[in-house]
Order: sequence, then C-alpha cells, then structure tokens
Amino acid sequence: MRYLILSDIHANWEALQAVVEHATGRYGRILCCGDIVGYGADPNAVTDWVRANAVTVIRGNHDKASAGLEDLDWFNPAAREATLWTINNLEPGNAEYVRQLPKGPIPVDGFQILHGSPLDEDEYLVGIGDAGQAFPYLDRQVTFFGHTHVQGGFVWTMTRIEPIKAPMQTGEKRLEVEPDSVYLLNPGSVGQPRDGDARACYAVYDSETKVLDYFRVVYDVEGAQAKIRKAGLPELLASRLALGR
Ligand code: ZN
Repeated sequence: MRYLILSDIHANWEALQAVVEHATGRYGRILCCGDIVGYGADPNAVTDWVRANAVTVIRGNHDKASAGLEDLDWFNPAAREATLWTINNLEPGNAEYVRQLPKGPIPVDGFQILHGSPLDEDEYLVGIGDAGQAFPYLDRQVTFFGHTHVQGGFVWTMTRIEPIKAPMQTGEKRLEVEPDSVYLLNPGSVGQPRDGDARACYAVYDSETKVLDYFRVVYDVEGAQAKIRKAGLPELLASRLALGR
C-alpha cells in the first residue's frame, strides 16, 4: 500500500489543496501525524477534509490545545492567540473530532506514526542528539513524526546516526529503507514549513517496497496569508508563510 503522509497542516487550506492535487495518483491511503489545526485561518475546511479522507490520524499539540486539553501557558503569544481563535471558530462536530483524536505512537501496516517523539508528543526531535535519545524507544523500523515542521528526519545505521536532508531545488527526493537501519522520517509540514523553503511538504511511503518519496509543492501563499489577516490572527502567522520560517 502506498500512503500519503501528511503532518502539521495547521488549518492552511491552500497548502493542503496544492498537496492533494500534486499527490493525485501516487497513493492509496492517507495518514496524518497531527496538528491539523492552529495558526491558519481554515480550521473547518481542513478538519472536514481530514475527517472525510484520512484513515489514521493522531493528535498534535495544537489539536490538543484547540480541544481545550492543554494549558496554554506553554504556548508563545502568537500560538496562544491562534489557539483561542481556533477554539472560538471550530464548528462543534469538528471540535469533537479534534478532541477525540488519539495520541501517538499508532502502528500502521508495519510502521508507526507519532507527533513529537516516542515518549512525548510535545518533544521536538531537532538534532542528532534528540534523535539519539529517541531511537532506543522505537519498536518499528520506520517511524513517521512531525512537530518540528522540518522535512527530512534521521537514520540510525547501528554504527551512527545521520540526518536525512530535505529535497532542495527539484522538490523531489527518494529514500530507500535499508534492511539494517532504523528510520525517523518527517514528511515536513503541509501548512507552515520552517526550514527556509516556503513550499508545502508531503511524503509518500510504499509499505511493500519500503521506498519513501519526499515532495515540495508551490502553493497559493498569498491566499493563505490574506485569510489569516482577514481573520485578525497575528501578522507573524501570515508573514512567516512566505519565508518558510
Ligand atoms: Zn505543528
């Protein structure tokens, strides 16, 4: 089965639409590693789409917060304001859906998905040191994670840990899973990339051949920004989309 792996959509409908259009014909099922909502101005359109299309979805920290399950003192001011806006704007059915999302890790077809790290959904796996602490807790060869909004991940070859770089200019990169290595793979953020590339991110994983394809897709950043400004959300949340930061 080929899986479309999405993470950190963050209520960005323009980015999600571009990803789905670009991915057409490449996958059979859809998975999501959390943070459907928060930051962006389209929480209902995005949640409706995820509810209708994704087969396995776990919650992210912003989903947890937008469902009223998190103390907002841990959020920076822009994230807190966006969370309160999301709580006020999520339709009841979507709010209930977000509230009941399970916590990762969740096994899927021989691999697993989680949001932050295997031990803590709020923990960021940024560097090799973070990955080194996480690898011993993985009980699958392949794990997909999100939360950092940085496409790529890490591979543990049993002698060392190496970062996996995101595709650059071409917007495409293929990775073949090697038999004796363990992988932490980040499809990147659909709706708010933070690796200096404004293009939306996704990945497609074939569970039979164990081949992963990373993609970057140009989307209507200005359209998403206009909606954030019109909603009265913090300006930072609009401007950062153009920078991919
Ligand atoms: Zn996120």
